[in-house]
Amino acid sequence: MTTIDPSTVATLQIEDDRTGLGIETLRRAMADNLFYIQGKYPEIATKNDFYMALAYTVRDRLLKRWISTTRSYVKNDVKVVCYLSAEFLMGPQLGNNLINLDIYEQVHKAVTESGLNIEELIEQEEEPGLGNGGLGRLAACYMDSLASLEIPAIGYGIRYEFGIFDQEIRDGWQVEITDKWLQWGNPWEIHRPELAYEVKLGGHTEPYTDQYGNYRVRWIPDQVVKGIAYDTPILGYKVNTTNILRLWKAEAPESFDFQSFNVGDYYGAVNKKVVSENISKVLYPNDEQVQGKQLRLEQQYFFVSCSLQNMIRIHLDRPGKSLATFHENFAVQLNDTHPAIGVAELMRLLLDEHQFAWEQAWDITQKTFGYTNHTLLPEALEKWSINLFGKLLPRHLEIIYEINRRFLDQVRLQDPYDQGKIARLSLIDETGDRYVRMANLACVGSHAINGVAALHTELLKQTVLRDFYQLWPEKFSNKTNGVTPRRWIVLSNPGLTSLISSKIGDNWIKHLEDLRQLESFVEDSNFRQQWRQIKLENKRNLAKYIQKKTGIVINPESLFDIQVKRIHEYKRQHLNVLHIITLYNRIKHNPDLEITPRTFIFGGKAAPGYYMAKLIIKLINSVAEVVNADPCVRDRMKVVFLPDYNVTLGQRVYPAADLSEQISTAGLEASGTGNMKFSMNGALTIGTLDGANVEIRQEVGEENFFLFGLRTEEVYALKTQGYNPWSYYNSNPQLKEVIDLIASGIFSHGDTGLFRPLLDSLLHHDPFMLLADYQSYIDCQEQVSQAYRNQDNWTRMSILNVARIGKFSSDRSIQEYCQDIWQAKSLTIELEEYVQSKAGLKV
Ligand SMILES: *Cc1c(COP(=O)(O)O)cnc(C)c1O
Repeated sequence: MTTIDPSTVATLQIEDDRTGLGIETLRRAMADNLFYIQGKYPEIATKNDFYMALAYTVRDRLLKRWISTTRSYVKNDVKVVCYLSAEFLMGPQLGNNLINLDIYEQVHKAVTESGLNIEELIEQEEEPGLGNGGLGRLAACYMDSLASLEIPAIGYGIRYEFGIFDQEIRDGWQVEITDKWLQWGNPWEIHRPELAYEVKLGGHTEPYTDQYGNYRVRWIPDQVVKGIAYDTPILGYKVNTTNILRLWKAEAPESFDFQSFNVGDYYGAVNKKVVSENISKVLYPNDEQVQGKQLRLEQQYFFVSCSLQNMIRIHLDRPGKSLATFHENFAVQLNDTHPAIGVAELMRLLLDEHQFAWEQAWDITQKTFGYTNHTLLPEALEKWSINLFGKLLPRHLEIIYEINRRFLDQVRLQDPYDQGKIARLSLIDETGDRYVRMANLACVGSHAINGVAALHTELLKQTVLRDFYQLWPEKFSNKTNGVTPRRWIVLSNPGLTSLISSKIGDNWIKHLEDLRQLESFVEDSNFRQQWRQIKLENKRNLAKYIQKKTGIVINPESLFDIQVKRIHEYKRQHLNVLHIITLYNRIKHNPDLEITPRTFIFGGKAAPGYYMAKLIIKLINSVAEVVNADPCVRDRMKVVFLPDYNVTLGQRVYPAADLSEQISTAGLEASGTGNMKFSMNGALTIGTLDGANVEIRQEVGEENFFLFGLRTEEVYALKTQGYNPWSYYNSNPQLKEVIDLIASGIFSHGDTGLFRPLLDSLLHHDPFMLLADYQSYIDCQEQVSQAYRNQDNWTRMSILNVARIGKFSSDRSIQEYCQDIWQAKSLTIELEEYVQSKAGLKV
């Protein structure tokens, strides 16, 4: 009898496994990585070692696809979309890559065979928090959709050493802890020391005449820093396309400044290195605007300059290419004004470094850039004092003056007498201290300008960008935001995913509009039962997590009423609190009152310097303390503040929500994307007609959406006629009781001063009109409570929300950008044979 050596069988299986995705291949690769990368053997390996071994196993498979992708892009001379963003809030990578590689099941088995737990390994990953909130998360969703739609793309940003702070709650207050996301290593990035660019700062300029007699300018900086690339592969869903996220780290050009060293100033030399590295040290934790900080301007210019130099190198490396056709190969999108300095920088590179004439350089620049606006508040539009700007970027200031001179000449030709208009359009604000207006620079330097929801784009045309719209209506378009269903349904809600796919197949994951087919199951009571069961399971999971993190026990059968997002007065978390206290008062007046049991869940970070936002967090926790401890309330209400809201936590929260709170003052939320993630997971929305809420309501049907509050026009009108919050307080006893209860100190251990600033703001100015919207909100919440009592009908509404949410896939947004702004086309990537066989090593 012949015996077969089992190791031979395994080898044969591996040799047969050309895909590299077989269970045995994966298991062996993991074991190898544990030995050879982590230097550990299973008995002594930590959970993090196993996570790293698995992450490297997955990364290897991405790199293989990335190589084929890059080679195809060069061979096919594709147009590349470059998404410039100061923030990329990517979330953890492992789970998402398993989904997109379509190997979750294999890895699950391979990991289980090795005696490990896949979910624990996925949870081991510390997320890269390189963003504040919606804007950074949008960039991340767009990277997923670009790759999934097989569009050649590069995301460019900053590799902050410290991302958004970790939030702890102590005594009800937010405490910020530095985010050390790199401390255990980041297996997803590849350090590319050979991809480095010099970035100049400061100094002065000198005119000279070149060899052809042309007027030229030289920039003599007084500091140079080096940007080094760190690349993260971004794989599309069930395709081979692997794009890159390229983040820049700042370093000193040489480890030592030899001149200083020679004169004995060793510490001075090392200090220069330290100062250079500061540029990519930390993300500014301000959600809306950072005003006047020199380091922030340095960060913006640093990453934009590295990125544009990198694009130019890629372009000129292609055979026979000249920069005259740069815009045919690169479409550069500005995610808000943070990278808007790119307009002046591309001009500088073309004029000063590549000797273009002004007219041609300007033509290329305008054809290259597109600008996405994210705000309507005039005071939130980014501006830099001329002093600071000229000190740091003297050459760019000259270029901006020249762009402005030519631009305003053109405006004057059309309308010579409207001085007001000229002053408003100018790239320089001359009304007091002089400033460079970054939104104006972005508008003038781009061929396309877009808002991020239909309402937002219309308001842009009527308000902050009105003069630009009148000048160039053809430049404007709307691109309503979207989110990726891969992360926000498939990965975070596997129960819902398999129920949906069991009914309509799994095409919806790439074509979210296909969810419409779910409408035919609304009247299937068995289906509704399964739908409810999945939601309940998700709520139980969140309840367990909440108990572990906060010690608070909640009832999974209660209505989960959730508001998670950055803490901001305009987002009105405190309006939600006014409702909680209203219910509390009702129970205190009538202890036997029958109300729909609710759990109020909050999450979100406040900017560390934003006093009111931090006071709102304290208020939520103080109300929670009283309400949760009051025996009179029993199981009818619970209030929870979940600390450290981030992408990882979002993935637990959205699938467990019954009710999504989208209650900003109308006209202030540009789009919102949290609203979409909730609705995609079957939560119903209570919301104002703001941002994308308008379109969500239109899609899901007004009967499946809880609308309240003033419309944008009504907000404007009330402001104009003179809004007086006092009159609401005095005429509404219920509201008065709530405000008075906060003032009484009952939530602050008798301290009547603690919440005074918040109450004063509400009673005297109330810039976000909480008091005007209060009664409408309370009435609407009553409708929610009534509706929740009919579980069967609630489930119908929940199903219809999911069935009709297809529009809000980021795939749809990206297709619109590609068609209307970027003129970018997809390219299917085949895995090349030489990569498959690893035989192509002769370079
Ligand atoms: C989606 C998301 C946001 C944006 O939420 P909004 O409700 O649109 O403000 C912010 N932070 C995280 C972590 C998110 O996932």
